[in-house]
Amino acid sequence: MRQMSRRKLLRRGTQAVLAGGVALSGLPTLEPRAFSKSAPQAVDYYQKLGVTPFINAAGTYTVLSASTMPDEVQAAVALAARQPVNLNELLDASGAYLAKRLRCEAALVTAGAAAALVVGTAACITMGNEQAILNLPTDMAGLKNEVIVQKSHRYGYDHALRNCGIRFVEVETLEQYEQAFTERTVMAHFFNAGAGKISREDWVRVALQHGVPCFNDAAADVPPISNLWNYTQMGFDLVTFSGGKGLRGPQCSGLLLGRKDLIEAAKKNNSPNSNTVGRGMKVAKEEIVGLVAAVDWFLKQDDAAMEAEYRQRADRIAKHLKSIPTLQTQIFIPEVANHVPHLLIIYDQDRIKITGAEVMQKMREGKPRIELNPSTGGSPASAGLPGGPNTVVVGVWMLLPGEDMVVAKRLREVLQEAIRT
Ligand SMILES: *Cc1c(COP(=O)(O)O)cnc(C)c1O
Repeated sequence: MRQMSRRKLLRRGTQAVLAGGVALSGLPTLEPRAFSKSAPQAVDYYQKLGVTPFINAAGTYTVLSASTMPDEVQAAVALAARQPVNLNELLDASGAYLAKRLRCEAALVTAGAAAALVVGTAACITMGNEQAILNLPTDMAGLKNEVIVQKSHRYGYDHALRNCGIRFVEVETLEQYEQAFTERTVMAHFFNAGAGKISREDWVRVALQHGVPCFNDAAADVPPISNLWNYTQMGFDLVTFSGGKGLRGPQCSGLLLGRKDLIEAAKKNNSPNSNTVGRGMKVAKEEIVGLVAAVDWFLKQDDAAMEAEYRQRADRIAKHLKSIPTLQTQIFIPEVANHVPHLLIIYDQDRIKITGAEVMQKMREGKPRIELNPSTGGSPASAGLPGGPNTVVVGVWMLLPGEDMVVAKRLREVLQEAIRT
């Protein structure tokens, strides 16, 4: 039999497949970086689906999609989407990189701060116990399951911890806290923006005395930038930040920072490991890379410069509204969480006959749509932000360049229409 050259063989093979009716022309070449250099024309799916985007004069609220990624973060995400990687390798490498940059022992990219609460709690419960990873949360026999928390720190994210089969033990005073530790205590939980009698320092000190890990949920608490290491350096064993709020990474990403042994234990309870409490909280390569890029971006920012920029936006809006009768403006910075300048607009409703809630609705229905801060016209929506029926709150920090004046002009229109003459 005559030997066939490899090329001929391949050609024959091709003809055979073509004869079978399968066109080969569209198959990708098998180069190592098999993707096109030029990006295809993107379809605007918001338009196609009829979902209208808005100008974000609210802030980093989850239901409003929280934040948008800076261009360089979006570019890093798009590039990461083009090639497959091993998720465990990417989680390990990104964790080591983030730990170094954020000055802590270890780090893990999670599917958000709420996911970090789940896998962090699971870490404390299961540490080195493979069977416990499987048993969580329905078979807690023999497992420590009490989490100590200040009564005032019970909040909308309790369920994340409860997903691990724990029960809360509430305390109010330092003395009660010291008495609350039992052989079933597995973690001491702290809500960074919560009010309460017991300070962070005392919380850490007492937990350490009892050899119990303590967790600080600081999800919404950058800026300031230094918070990214302040709480781990204060001694909290685990700290979480949301990736999609102030950090402006992908919305479904978060940081779990802290002790190496706990981060390793958290990984074991997390995706991509099947049959774990964290498997449903998958974080993909795009989000992992996106969060790393967002942290790189955020660390290049400057607290004073960011604050100055937000103050300028607020001042520009205030100046444009100045001549409206009875209207007063004020810049307000919440103490902790969303710790950035917000513009408060207060007016006399006898003169300007519209409630804050109505202003909000009109802004939402205009073109373009504008979302004001949810504490507008009502009771405070987040820690420390004032409200009231005659108060409009503009969150300026998520505005894109130039949008402050769009907001100012539309606000002026809406308020002026309501002037009683
Ligand atoms: C937003 C928030 C979370 C949840 O963060 P995600 O990243 O959206 O999961 C948890 N805790 C607090 C205090 C928050 O503000």
